[in-house]
Amino acid sequence: MSYILTCVKAPDKAHQERLLTFLRKKYQDTDDQLDIRIDPGLIGGFTLTANGYTYDCSVRGRMRQMEEKLMSSSGNNDTAESLLSSLLEEIRSFTPSVKPIEIGEVIEVSDGIATASGLSRAAYGEMVEFENGEFGMVMNLRKDNVGIMLLGSEEGIGEGSVVRRTGKAVEVPVGEGLLGRAVDALGHPIDDLGPIESDLSYPIEREAGGVITREPVSVPLQTGILAIDAMVPIGRGQRELIIGDRQTGKTAIAVDTMINQRDTGVICIYVAIGQKASSVARVQETLRKHGAMDNSIIVSAAAGESAALQYIAPYAGAAMAEYFMERGRDVLIVYDDLSKHAVAYRTLSLLLKRSPGREAYPGDVFYLHSRLLERACRVTEEYGGGSITALPIIETQAGDVSAYIPTNVISITDGQIYLESGLFFSGQRPAINVGLSVSRVGGAAQTRAIKKTAGTLRIDLARFRELEVFTQFSSDLDKSTQQTLDHGRRLLELLKQPLYHPMPVSRQATLLYVATQGLLDDIPLSELRDFTDSFMERMETEHGEVLSGIQDSGALSGTAAEAIRATLEACKAPRRA
Ligand code: ATP
Ligand code: MG
Repeated sequence: MSYILTCVKAPDKAHQERLLTFLRKKYQDTDDQLDIRIDPGLIGGFTLTANGYTYDCSVRGRMRQMEEKLMSSSGNNDTAESLLSSLLEEIRSFTPSVKPIEIGEVIEVSDGIATASGLSRAAYGEMVEFENGEFGMVMNLRKDNVGIMLLGSEEGIGEGSVVRRTGKAVEVPVGEGLLGRAVDALGHPIDDLGPIESDLSYPIEREAGGVITREPVSVPLQTGILAIDAMVPIGRGQRELIIGDRQTGKTAIAVDTMINQRDTGVICIYVAIGQKASSVARVQETLRKHGAMDNSIIVSAAAGESAALQYIAPYAGAAMAEYFMERGRDVLIVYDDLSKHAVAYRTLSLLLKRSPGREAYPGDVFYLHSRLLERACRVTEEYGGGSITALPIIETQAGDVSAYIPTNVISITDGQIYLESGLFFSGQRPAINVGLSVSRVGGAAQTRAIKKTAGTLRIDLARFRELEVFTQFSSDLDKSTQQTLDHGRRLLELLKQPLYHPMPVSRQATLLYVATQGLLDDIPLSELRDFTDSFMERMETEHGEVLSGIQDSGALSGTAAEAIRATLEACKAPRRA
């Protein structure tokens, strides 16, 4: 190893000898030599590299320190005058420091990955800065070099470029200023609403809180989708997977759920990973049109972005969510989708020369998603009292849930909503397969009125499905079989729900009440939708207080049930006449 002295003009021999003697004594190494390099870019002074550290005493280094100080100055910048005086104050109080900095040298760079030598103390996940002002994240720590994932453009970085440790993890801005905005994976705005107002940053990677910080899931998160709220209820702080083939309405369920949060105070974060930019724009437009964008954030790493940005996007979203959770707010975060996230990570891992395992994914692909989803939880009052509910999305191939990534994520989450192309194309939308969908913790958080009225729904549908298969080819059925079939068909019809029409609790409970009791079984299937619409309209005009009672209390009282029955009878009366 040698000491490297970089300066504008080489010192004379006597100076060099003195310096070498000093260094040898300090580091107790008599073999080392002094390597002198000339760099006019320093302007004045020198830099000295010894024992892996660089001590920067150059004019350029001091100017950089001054620049950093001025940029981070938090003076009163309302008027030009106050800005000027606060800048002057900063300059007067500036004393350059000679803190050792670590500088490395790029060995090679290609496909968004750089290998650099000399950063022997860099930490995993640390942010490093390149000469061209772009940042990177340390991903591989090897004996003689580190592998760095570039977070910006490769331009201007080449063999021999300097790379500097920052000592910080990769961070994103967090706070209220992000609400209503669309940002990229590093928190830079991608809409045309100007800069993000935020003076706080959180590291994107954070260890999830331990069990002591957590509270059981007990408050419902209403999706507004009848089939989900009735049969796979989701609680605040839960992680519920949405899984299905392509084009089965996965995104639609997530977006509907976000729209349903517009008056609940729940903050929504939609993380788009590897999607078409046009799809992301469509989601944003839908949210805006339905008045749900004001309490939402969109984090987008579209298909055109680098694998690195796609990889960090969900963690960035989680950091933004944690800010609100710590302040007692409830957050809903959608990861759309984690299959593409895993693919981006596979790309990166292969470029970083990590050994491929099953389906060419690296060995730690389970940890990739578990550490992300573990950050969703409900915390105790002491830790802020908020919650993060996660809705990760996974795309399957030909309904295969036993592939590598789907099984991983199924085992991490607290249940799944399974969507089926067959149902989708037969017109049963949302195409939820009730038999294969579960919610492992949401039951404890289900709204009472819905829990009470939806009680037999699952069993009735299961009995219907079983009978439907057996009776497909027979023409004359006995009365009770026919009844079960009629009942099941009406329940399925009721569960059909168009896009962007989330249902309030009162409507869900009322419809479930009449449907599960078989009170709709005598309405012809083709007229069911119109009939329920006119029935609900009548409920609203004649018994508005009953509906708002259910909505506010979340419970269905005996008198409410009576009013519902009476109104239903009144609606049916003209049909009998
Ligand atoms: P991809 O795999 O491409 O991400 P996806 O599974 O997210 O697809 P969506 O984009 O949500 O599916 O929906 C696919 C199409 O189905 C869209 O055109 C959407 O309008 C339609 N769709 C989804 N849900 C419903 C519904 N409940 N009623 C009617 N149409 C629906
Ligand atoms: Mg989608």
